[in-house]
Amino acid sequence: MSNFKFSRKLTDYLKKIELDTGREIKFFESPDLGIKGITAAYNYNPKYIQITLNMENSRSKGDRERSIAHEATHGYLMHKLKFCRPIFLEHVDDNYKRDVHLVFTMIEDIIVNKIIQDNEFHPFGHEYLPMVTEEIKIAHKGEEEGERFYHRFTDNPHLEALLMISRYIIACGFLRYYHLGPHEEKIIKEFTRTFKKYYPDYYKFCVKIKGIIEEHNIFTEKGECQTIQLILQLFKLDERVKLTQLN
Ligand SMILES: [Zn+2]
Repeated sequence: MSNFKFSRKLTDYLKKIELDTGREIKFFESPDLGIKGITAAYNYNPKYIQITLNMENSRSKGDRERSIAHEATHGYLMHKLKFCRPIFLEHVDDNYKRDVHLVFTMIEDIIVNKIIQDNEFHPFGHEYLPMVTEEIKIAHKGEEEGERFYHRFTDNPHLEALLMISRYIIACGFLRYYHLGPHEEKIIKEFTRTFKKYYPDYYKFCVKIKGIIEEHNIFTEKGECQTIQLILQLFKLDERVKLTQLN
């Protein structure tokens, strides 16, 4: 953190979140944030908004600032908007927790990116469209090649499957809820079309998740919580976790 100075825009945004939530934003550093290649992560803490940064991943200042704004907004969802969070039963392993967290992220990110866009940050980083373009290419090679590709980000096969599915759901979120430029829209649409065609086993789950999202208003704390609960049930991940809201 020492050699990194925030812009006025980010400083103001973080201050606004601290004011609205009554929670201080604190930064930590770690080289392992659960999924390889990510630069920042939000971790729940009742007293403050904890953001952990991986300083080893080099990114442009704009992208790093966007990702800090993004993670801080997860804290805003929790502490101000009272969106739900997972409470795990005792003795659940880290792999299970990561799976559940990824289901949360799949839905929360649609909301978080919308909020940061309203606050003049770009809804996605510079790496997003090139990554999606690569994912389109990979998808044409079929499911096995796709699995190998997403395996780069995690050694856990369960998480890998969820990651693939979450890429589709997040892309659909952009198409459904965001104003995109024609170029952006074209690439993201192409990705969803390719995914549907070449990853049929994964697409089956995506259709169900899309249906759940359509039936609930994920932008409200109740709708978001019900949506996550139903997706956890779909993946049989709901047995060792309870969803709860802060008072
Ligand atoms: Zn996120």
